[in-house]
Amino acid sequence: MKSIAEQRILVYNSLSGTKEEFKPLNGNMVGMYVCGPTVYNNVHLGNCRTFISFDIIFRYLKHLGYKVRYVRNITDAGHLENDADEGEDRITKKARIEEIEPMEVVQKYTVDFHRTLAKFNTLPPSIEPTATGHIVEQIELAKQILESGFAYEVNGSVYFDVLKFNESSAYGKLSGRKLKDMIHNTRETSGQSEKRNPQDFALWKKAQPEHIMRWPSPWGDGFPGWHLECTAMSTKYLGKKFDIHGGGMDLKFPHHECEIAQGEAVSNCSPANYWVHANMLTLNGKKMAKSTGNNILPNEIFTGENDIMERPFSPTVTRFFMLQAHYRSVLDFSNDAMLASEKGFSKLMQALSLLDSINTDTETTGFDVTKWKQKCYDAMNDDFNTPILIATLFDAAKFAQNVNDGRESITKEDLNTLQSTFHSFIHDVLGLSKEVQGVDHYLEDALHLLIELRNDARKRKDFVTSDKIRDELSKAGIILKDGSHETTFTLRQ
Ligand code: AMP
Ligand code: ZN
Repeated sequence: MKSIAEQRILVYNSLSGTKEEFKPLNGNMVGMYVCGPTVYNNVHLGNCRTFISFDIIFRYLKHLGYKVRYVRNITDAGHLENDADEGEDRITKKARIEEIEPMEVVQKYTVDFHRTLAKFNTLPPSIEPTATGHIVEQIELAKQILESGFAYEVNGSVYFDVLKFNESSAYGKLSGRKLKDMIHNTRETSGQSEKRNPQDFALWKKAQPEHIMRWPSPWGDGFPGWHLECTAMSTKYLGKKFDIHGGGMDLKFPHHECEIAQGEAVSNCSPANYWVHANMLTLNGKKMAKSTGNNILPNEIFTGENDIMERPFSPTVTRFFMLQAHYRSVLDFSNDAMLASEKGFSKLMQALSLLDSINTDTETTGFDVTKWKQKCYDAMNDDFNTPILIATLFDAAKFAQNVNDGRESITKEDLNTLQSTFHSFIHDVLGLSKEVQGVDHYLEDALHLLIELRNDARKRKDFVTSDKIRDELSKAGIILKDGSHETTFTLRQ
């Protein structure tokens, strides 16, 4: 088998429309930026699919030994109701409806987002910057774009000049659109908007008197345009050019197209080398979306309080359901699909237990373990193909069953390789953990908090506290197990 450093990864780059060999810009360091949620509502399962898809990429690159800086932002200002820079700010609107402060909305739904993703066992990003925390950087960036001649100011707002940009670069190259077709298909009558051309987008918007989320700027009180924050924050934490930029497919246009234009306007280079887009989760064949109400919330699945599922499903089974599809395929959520995933997941966990319990003293192996292990890597190297990886894990599960039934044999050394590979792909790469029977979700949240507090104490070298938490939990029958990436727990039966 090739060494980990020799694994050759192919990544589908939406910009070129082909799979390309992954070559990080700086040796074994990888910079990855993923557009995070707009925190004005509970995250739905579709949002979670996208974040789980990038969690897999993050985990796999780390597993291979890359040092990954994963930046995922929180959009807490500037995202208007409609993509054409019109309408109310989504967060302000929610604050008005709920009669609370905009920042209370942000706090409430950021907490929900973190709790939900933790239930799905996604790893936290390395940096999670917010738009409101980077107003200074966004104003600076708008100034630079103005200076470069690709933007203009009108009446306290600053707009990106798409026609001008298109003279030296192709606006629309990521989404495969042509500016002349966009112009042809626009019905807006000229003169109604202060933009020079309807394709232009806001870098900074003047705040009307009723607009609460406002900041002083060289152009008067206002707020940043939605696309500006990602360019400002990715540049700040990853540089003008970095490796991977990701998000859901629906962000290709206009959001990512505008990010490319902003980046090129100030630094003459496209911000990211690989543009990676996760496909949509659908419900009843239609995209899950907050705005249409065609969605299901993760908690509704875990508690069973919904009209779609015949019973509750756990976060791990739901995660497994997502991983059974490739991230670039559309995936439809249904009761039948979840039932099938639950069965599949349970079979995989049985295989894990069986593998761990096998004892062997034979001298031959009827299975090429080295080849099988490379097949697991090949699956992930081919654009992070989790369904192929899962199928390959099942090949080993079948073999383990045959060994257990006395139809096949395996040497001790091969068994060790099989066990450790199986474990690391299931736990470290796929982020799946054995369901702990008898623990409800409230208790699970509390246990995760205790694990976090213990790990914080260990980092501080406060071993009195960390040992106390571990020992007291153990007395209560809860056993902590430290893995290479995370601490898990089991119940003493
Ligand atoms: P938002 O909070 O609406 O900005 O969305 C957060 C992330 O979820 C973005 O990357 C979206 O592309 C993604 N997303 C939204 N709807 C879906 C869906 N139905 N399936 C998968 N990803 C989605
Ligand atoms: Zn973004």
